[in-house]
Amino acid sequence: MTVGVAEPDVAAPAAPAPEPDARAVARRENEALREIRAPVAASIRFACVLGAVGALCGLVPFVGLAELAAALLAPGPVDTGRITLVGWLVVAGAGARGLLTGVALSITHFADQRLQGILRERLVRHLGRVPLGWFSQHSSGLVRKAAQDDVHDLHQLIAHHSVELTAAIALPVGGLAYLVWLDWRLAVLALVTLPFYAAAYAWMMRGYTGKMQEMNAAFARISAAVVEFVGGIAVVKAFGQGRRAHESFRRAASDFGGFYAGWVRPMLRLEAISTMAVGAPVVGLVASAGAVWLAAEGQVTPAEALTGILVALVVPTTISALGYGAQNRRTAAAAALRLHELLRTPVLPVADDPQVPHGHRVEFDDVRFGYEAGADVLHGITLTCEPGTVTALVGPSGSGKSTLATLLPRFHDVTGGAVRIGGVDVRDVDPAVLYRHVGFVLQDVQLVHGSLADNVRLGRPTASHDEVRRACEAGGVHDRITELPRGYDSVVGEDALLSGGEAQRVSIARALLADTPVLVLDEATAFADPESEAAIQDALSTLAAGRTVLVVAHRLSTITGVDRIAVLDRGRVVESGTHRELLARHGAYARQWRAHLGEDRP
Ligand code: ADP
Ligand code: MG
Repeated sequence: MTVGVAEPDVAAPAAPAPEPDARAVARRENEALREIRAPVAASIRFACVLGAVGALCGLVPFVGLAELAAALLAPGPVDTGRITLVGWLVVAGAGARGLLTGVALSITHFADQRLQGILRERLVRHLGRVPLGWFSQHSSGLVRKAAQDDVHDLHQLIAHHSVELTAAIALPVGGLAYLVWLDWRLAVLALVTLPFYAAAYAWMMRGYTGKMQEMNAAFARISAAVVEFVGGIAVVKAFGQGRRAHESFRRAASDFGGFYAGWVRPMLRLEAISTMAVGAPVVGLVASAGAVWLAAEGQVTPAEALTGILVALVVPTTISALGYGAQNRRTAAAAALRLHELLRTPVLPVADDPQVPHGHRVEFDDVRFGYEAGADVLHGITLTCEPGTVTALVGPSGSGKSTLATLLPRFHDVTGGAVRIGGVDVRDVDPAVLYRHVGFVLQDVQLVHGSLADNVRLGRPTASHDEVRRACEAGGVHDRITELPRGYDSVVGEDALLSGGEAQRVSIARALLADTPVLVLDEATAFADPESEAAIQDALSTLAAGRTVLVVAHRLSTITGVDRIAVLDRGRVVESGTHRELLARHGAYARQWRAHLGEDRP
């Protein structure tokens, strides 16, 4: 369990933080925060002004209570008129504070809702134009973190903190100003306890980081529930169903948002209260002693002394407010930076003058390709898939089969040569048109958070229930779906828990429904157990009929009958022909075939 080697590293003194870097990051974070927050900045400023005025109204009861005490303590008959007036002022002040703070917080909550909508919309719109390959290169966690966690982190800052922090500063500042006006020594008394409080606060906050981590871990566990949405985003995008899938995700997200808020808020309050419990007695004691002494010396009236004590008691809360505020702002700024960068992911270039493919011949013409910051993976591949034929790609793992296949639906763009469909470079085809021509069933099956019917219907949103069912029958998954308690309405990841092979067949049904003339199938049987492989094979033959198919073959036995087999090795086509022709050549394919037979007969 222990990793001995790591020990010295852990024990070694921490290297000094790279200051300029940290500062540069902080600057970028703040810029990102400003940019992300811009659409609601005016509302928030307005709410802060209201919050500040509300906090100042909160001073009225302080002053009023002291006045009340003065009136009651005054020698002679009690002036009831004055007492009633002061009483009303106290009530009015407290009421105005509550009202203004409430209005300010509703403004920020509405602003936050609006901003969340804007951000999610921007994310969906932007990610909808990012190359599909980006999604296979970046973990779905990144998108999840943006759409879920980061938007939430902003919520704390936008909906709560701006107003709460302004109020937390306005109240003591206003109180101190009032004390200075009464007697500057009272103001000094109110400030003198700050160091005590700061020390108590620091002591209280020792465990805070750990608690935060605990909370974050719990948070991560829960948010895993929405992975399906982003897990399936390539498919959502390809079939132009961003909005619908987004809607079900949004519901799941907001349900969870409510739960999370309910869970965290009491904890934070408890923290604040216990901090107060340590701080308040110290502050109260010192301030009272000083104020009472000043009053006894006749320097201030008892009423002024009382006001001084009351203000002294609220001053320290500013410290905890500032502490939480700083923490919150850091979290929000980091979130804003991640969102900002995600929104700047390069998008797939779209032709100014899009063309429509004429027919369905697929040509790879001297295709070269390398992943970002990597050596070339494909070195000049030329291959033609005639309409209505099946072409299989075989070759060792890492030879570039998947890469070549995904260039056709433009997961990436070639770095040299061209991929053409119906004589038109795929880069000159409008993406929406391209996806109506090219369907795909990939190695990592992509189902989105939604019902099974919805998942299949992504292939063709207008399909009737009958058409969905027929596609599932042809895809060999209808029987399995009807076994589920809610049948086609079962939700992926909730009550539709499918095996890899079954999920694969759902995606085949989707491709069947989409009915594209060109199909890319990548190791479609990779996940399957033997029975389900047979079912998948049947489904695939149904799917392939009459289409131009490019299939990345996993098991050679499944492709002996195809029109053409291209053998790839280290990014080059080393052989091509039919199964028979290739066997007769006694080359790479024949060797693989013999190895394959050996595998099957242990
Ligand atoms: P195959 O499907 O034949 O097993 P791939 O097309 O998946 O091969 O991979 C070809 C080469 O490209 C491999 O060297 C692999 O490491 C590399 N590669 C695949 N995907 C990526 C990626 N997203 N980023 C960088 N390199 C990749
Ligand atoms: Mg592969």
